[in-house]
Amino acid sequence: MALRRPPGSQGRTQVVPGRHFDDGRHLASYADRIAVRCHRCGKEGWVLAQWQPYHWTARFRCTGCSLSLDSAEGTWVGQVRYSGRRPCGYCGYQWVSVCEQRASAAHDALNSLPGTCRQCGRQCDVAVGMSRVRDGSPADPHFGLPLHLVESTRAGVVWAYNAAHVQALQVFAVSKLRERGGVHNASMISRLPTWMKLARHRALLERALERLLQRLPE
Ligand SMILES: [Zn+2]
Ligand SMILES: [Zn+2]
Repeated sequence: MALRRPPGSQGRTQVVPGRHFDDGRHLASYADRIAVRCHRCGKEGWVLAQWQPYHWTARFRCTGCSLSLDSAEGTWVGQVRYSGRRPCGYCGYQWVSVCEQRASAAHDALNSLPGTCRQCGRQCDVAVGMSRVRDGSPADPHFGLPLHLVESTRAGVVWAYNAAHVQALQVFAVSKLRERGGVHNASMISRLPTWMKLARHRALLERALERLLQRLPE
C-alpha cells in the first residue's frame, strides 16, 4: 500500500452523543507526527513529517544514539519484500516465482533468490526487485521504524501514530452506533481489522487505547 496524501477531514463534523460518524479521514492524515522507537538503540522519539504538494518530507532524530534519518535520502529501515520470476532454466516452464520478506534492506540487499520450478523441481537463481512493506508489522510509513504505540490484546494488536490517532480510535470504541457516510472505503476507521469492530471487544479495545495514551513519549 502506497503512502498517500492526507485529504482534509470532510463531511459532517457535528457530534451526536453515542453515535460514531466516520468522517472519512485517511490513516495518512495522522502521519505528520508519529511516535516510534529507534531501530538502532530502541529509544522512543518522533518522526515529524510535512505534506508539501506533492510529496512527504519526513525526519527522525534519535536522542539516544543520534541517528538521523531524512526522507530526502530515501532511507527505509523497515520490512522489504523481494520478488521476481523467470522461465525455468532446465525445462522452460513459465514461471519460477520467488517472494520473500526481510527485516531491512540496509545490510543485505539481495539481487537474486533461489527458486524451485514447480514443473521439474530443480532450482535456479531468480533476479529479484525490492519493494517496501508498509502493511506488515506496525511501522511508520516514512522510514519503516517500529511504532512506539503498540498494544497486544487477546483479540489482536492495537497501534496508533499519535495522540490524535488514539483519540479518534477511542471515539470509535466507545460509540454504540456506528455509521459511515458516503464512500469512505479508504478511511482509517473503515480499514480497521474486523475484531475491533465487534461489539464484544469494545471494553478490551477501550482499555488498550487507554494504555497507549499513557505511553505517549515526551
Ligand atoms: Zn537511536
Ligand atoms: Zn523446470
